[in-house]
Parts: sequence; C-alpha cells; structure tokens
Amino acid sequence: MSRHITSLLALACVTVTLTAAPAQATPKAKEEVDCTQVKCLALTFDDGPGKYADKLLDTLKKEGVKATFFLEGQYVKSRPAFAKRMAAEGHELGNHSYTHPDFTKLEPWQVRAEVSKTQAIVKEVTGVEPKLLRPPYGLADVLTSDIAAEHGMPIILWTAGSKDWATKNEDAIKQQVLDVAKPNGIILMHDWVKQTVDVMPKIVTLLKKRGYHLVTVSTLVKQYNLRPGDVFPLPEGWQS
Ligand SMILES: [Zn+2]
Repeated sequence: MSRHITSLLALACVTVTLTAAPAQATPKAKEEVDCTQVKCLALTFDDGPGKYADKLLDTLKKEGVKATFFLEGQYVKSRPAFAKRMAAEGHELGNHSYTHPDFTKLEPWQVRAEVSKTQAIVKEVTGVEPKLLRPPYGLADVLTSDIAAEHGMPIILWTAGSKDWATKNEDAIKQQVLDVAKPNGIILMHDWVKQTVDVMPKIVTLLKKRGYHLVTVSTLVKQYNLRPGDVFPLPEGWQS
C-alpha cells in the first residue's frame, strides 16, 4: 500500500510542476478529449503489428480516430514499419509480451524477460516506450502486477471483446462491438483478423453516430488515476 501512496504523492508533485510551466506561451496542440465530459470508447488491437495493420491504419487516419495497439515484441521485430507508422500517426503502443505466453505459468525471470524485451524493441523501433501492459489472454497475477509496477505501467484488460478471432465474420464482429460498446468501454480486437480490419470503416461510422469519441486507452483511463501495477478493469475475484 505504501508504494501506492508514494506514487500518488510523486504524481501530485509532477502535476504541480507541469501547471507552473508557462501555459499561454505556446499555442495548444490538439486539445485532448476529456472523457469525464464526453462519451469515450477505446478500440484496442492485440497481438500485432498484424499483417493487416496497414489497411487498419489507413481507416483510422481517414476517420481521425486514435486506437491502442498492444504489440508483441516478436512482430515489432518482423514488421517494424507498421509499428513505426502506428507511433507516427498518434496511436498508443502497449506491451503485450514478446512471444505471447501465459504469464501465470512462467517463472518470474521469464515474465520479466518477456516484458523488458518488448519494452526495448518497441523503444528501439518507434522511439516510444509503452506505458501500458496487457498480459497475453488477459491473465495476470500478483507477480505480473509487480513486474508491471517495476516498469511504471498499469495492467490494462478490456471491458468487452469483439470475439473477432472466433467468428471471423464482418457482420458478427460489427454487431458484437455495437452490442458491447458503452461509455468508457475498452474493446478488444485483433489486427490480424482480416474481417475486423475490413469492417472497421462501418464500425467507426456507427460508433461515431452514437456519439462516441474514439480515444487511446491512456486518454480514457486518465480519469481513474491508475498507479503502476494497478489492474483495470479489475477482474472478478482478483486478489492483490
Ligand atoms: Zn493476445
């Protein structure tokens, strides 16, 4: 508990310092969406960069939408151009391990290696270090939480899945996303599922029509003041 209190204090100091900086000196870049004021939803894509990432990025760019990609280190290595493009176009990059093992079945040193190797390759390729961890299969335990905390990251799961990897059907994926979408929801999808990428223009159009601002996970969770090692949303039965 004391670790958390310390982090909160540290955060408070940082906030004060930032506020003290000259506010009007530079024109504000694009205003960040405030998810306490408007309806937000975060689209997240796991296991990438997937082979259809380029097409997905074209859609997101055209629609002016920011997404979050939970990347596997091994694919950042094999598809560096996609990872670079994600970062350059303002999407958020999260850590989804290097080779996608179940963290809860590994030794601590193995989980540490999976996480730190992925941090390193994402940083090397894109210049950006992930600030969020999503363990493979969404399976986390106290060890995963401790290792996330070592890297200053919260663990981000999802409020609902699109079931895209199971259905692989455009209409089913679209319907599922619309059914589970809710304010401050985090939707799990995959950029290696062709049907997800193909139906994305329709999904984005329909979500916008319902008044959603499609934002990155960090923008969405800002309101919750997550601390390193926190798990969000907290799964049922989570013991810490
Ligand atoms: Zn995954």
